[in-house]
Amino acid sequence: MWIIKSLLLTFACVLCAAAPPALNPQAPPASNQAPLLPGEALAIVGPDGVVHLFGEDASRELPMGSLAKLVWIKLAGMDWASMDVQFNCTGTWQGCHCWLAKGHGKVDLAKALQESCNLAFLAWGRWSAGEWKRDYGEGGGRALMEDAFGPFLGDRMPPGEGIPAIEPPWIGDGDLLRASPATMLTWLQDPAQEAAVRMTKRLLLSNRKNSDKPGVWWINTGTAPVPGDPGSTSAWAAGSNGSITAVLHLPRGRGKADGLDRFRAVMMIPPGL
Ligand SMILES: [Zn+2]
Repeated sequence: MWIIKSLLLTFACVLCAAAPPALNPQAPPASNQAPLLPGEALAIVGPDGVVHLFGEDASRELPMGSLAKLVWIKLAGMDWASMDVQFNCTGTWQGCHCWLAKGHGKVDLAKALQESCNLAFLAWGRWSAGEWKRDYGEGGGRALMEDAFGPFLGDRMPPGEGIPAIEPPWIGDGDLLRASPATMLTWLQDPAQEAAVRMTKRLLLSNRKNSDKPGVWWINTGTAPVPGDPGSTSAWAAGSNGSITAVLHLPRGRGKADGLDRFRAVMMIPPGL
């Protein structure tokens, strides 16, 4: 009998050893990070380039919400910056709604990214689609979008031969575009995104006096819809200090401000960085 017990115990221990510690949401992700809360998922990579996943299933794809704006920065950020784009967000525009009902007021590219103004990105995205159509034709414009959004589109590219209509789902309002903390982190790490990440950092830190200080973090935060629960949001936060990059997803009921607070708390970012 004791042999069976011993074998069972050994088997259980093997199971314990094999189980990723990340599945315990209460467990501290690492010595230099604070514990996650239930429902949070974190993907993190340090200078060694090894991706670590913690918390709720950090490989599960969810609507990417405001993180879609980072893909737009890659796709059209340089054009928009050179145009010095502006937008006046009143909360509604051409039948579409910003997540902030009262509107963001007048925004430029930096403010639209910092405050995650959906309507500004929608308006500028539509302008870009017109430019692509003129410069590359419908097929060329479609290829640009497929290439940029591919990692988050799966097989959900709207059918057709031309540039799809730039509607709110392309700005992350809906579940057309999906990411997991792991896939978003992989995207941020890809050298193909180097220029876009550099631009994102510059835009997000444009109001900060110490933006060139070593170790300063850029953090992009925003909301995402919750599938099957139209009134609810979840939140995303992605950021980097140049040596550590992390993507945090917060569960249902959390908003943009929660995303920023929790990212800073989990990554134990000192005030001023
Ligand atoms: Zn807005």
